[in-house]
Order: sequence, then C-alpha cells, then structure tokens
Amino acid sequence: MRLSASRLGYSSQRGGGGSSMRLIIGVVIAIISIISYVASREYNPVTGENQYLSITAEQEIALGQQSAPEMVQEFGGLSPDDQAQSLVDDIGYNIVNNSVAHTTPWEFEFSVLDDPQTINAFALPGGPVFITSGLLAQLSTEDEVAGVLSHEIVHVLARHSAQQLASSQLTNGLIGAVGVASGDANAAQTAAVIGQLVNMRYGRGDEIQSDTLGVCLMIASGYNPEGMIRVMEVLEAAGGGSGQPEFFSTHPNPENRIAQIQAAIENAPTQCASYQ
Ligand SMILES: [Zn+2]
Repeated sequence: MRLSASRLGYSSQRGGGGSSMRLIIGVVIAIISIISYVASREYNPVTGENQYLSITAEQEIALGQQSAPEMVQEFGGLSPDDQAQSLVDDIGYNIVNNSVAHTTPWEFEFSVLDDPQTINAFALPGGPVFITSGLLAQLSTEDEVAGVLSHEIVHVLARHSAQQLASSQLTNGLIGAVGVASGDANAAQTAAVIGQLVNMRYGRGDEIQSDTLGVCLMIASGYNPEGMIRVMEVLEAAGGGSGQPEFFSTHPNPENRIAQIQAAIENAPTQCASYQ
C-alpha cells in the first residue's frame, strides 16, 4: 500500500512536472514578449515621442506595400476617374513636399478607391494612403481634401499602425503563452498581420494627433486648416449609418474633436513651427 501510494504520488508528480514545464515555457514566452516590446523603444522625430515598435522602417514600408492590394480589393478597386486621381495626387504630394513629411523615409502614394457607398479614408504603414470615391464626392474644396489627406499622412508619420502592431504582437505573445501553458498549441497561432492592418482601428489619442498635426501639415503646404473642421462636419452629417467613417470609428463625440482642431489652429504659430 505504501509503495503504490508512493508510486501514485511519484506518477502524479511526473504529471505535475509536465504541466509545470508547460507553465514555465508559457511564462518564458510571456517574459520574452514583454522584453522585446520594451526593448523596441524608438524616438519619433516628427511627433517628438518615444514609441514601442517591433518592425524597422524598411519592414514597415514593405508591409504597407504588400497590404495595399488587399485594401484596394476590399473597397471596389482603383477608381477609373483619372481627374479625381490626379486631384488627390496633386494635393497629397503638395502636402508631402512642403511639410516635414519630405524629410522622412516614408514612401507616400495616394489612391482613390472606386467605392461610392463607403465614406472613408485609410493609411497603411509606410506611406500608402487611400480615399474612397464616396468620401471624395462629399468634399467640395481642395482644403477639405487636404484635411483628409493630412490626417492620413500623420497616421503614417506618427507610425500609428506599427505602434498598434507592436502592442498587438505583445498581446499575441501573451495569448501564445497562455496557449502553451494550457497545452493547446493551436492557440499559439498569431493572427494574420495583413488582415489586421486592413481592419485597423486607431485609438482616440492617435486620431486627435492626426487631426492636430494634420492642421500643421495643411498650414505648411498652404491650405486653409478650417478645411479640417469642414471635413468633420461633412462626416458628422454622413455618419450614423453602418460602416462608420474611419475618422469616427473611435470618436462618438465630433463636437469635442472640432474644438480640439479649433484650438490647434489657434495654437498653430507656436505648435506647428517644426512641421514646415
Ligand atoms: Zn484617422
């Protein structure tokens, strides 16, 4: 009896040893996730902020270019309207060439998407910027188009996608760690990065930064920054249905945003000095 009890004890300890080994591996993966996240700290000269990134600028550009066809496919393909495309190119490159954007490594490219039903604009990491024909049709001045494009350009300059990706990789690392610890290896699979980028939602802080630094880019390139306020009003009027505009995906309160843009315009003489 004593022997079998001790054997039982031994074998149950062996079982316990296996699960605690999995637990240790899980903890190690979690620690590696956190360390690689913290070690990825990088200074962004455009925003003046430190951020946590898991990819290099080169990888970021490649990722955006690889994801672009999927974005185009998801929103009706490229617009056949050459006039609309050249208007967006003119305004987009005008902003890039006359602002801090031209001092950065990002490879900007502007595309009109042939989707009249969707009122939206997007930016992929490293430079590709998209505006739907549906949103373009709602805008009546070049200043308003410049408002939309400036906002998207700031998402690229501030590396908001790469930042989101780094924090979701941290999350994936932690989810993977839980999967290993529970003995379910499949749970350790990471999500498809491209799908994640195409469906990216930025946080409130990222949107405010894109609005306010967008104001600086507009001024630097000779557009009336009031155009950004007009964009908010247009989107507010168009919003409310399904398919919330990217601009409002994380902002239920456009009045607050307009107030922030107004403050950014008032503070532009001091706040925008480094964005010329
Ligand atoms: Zn945005």
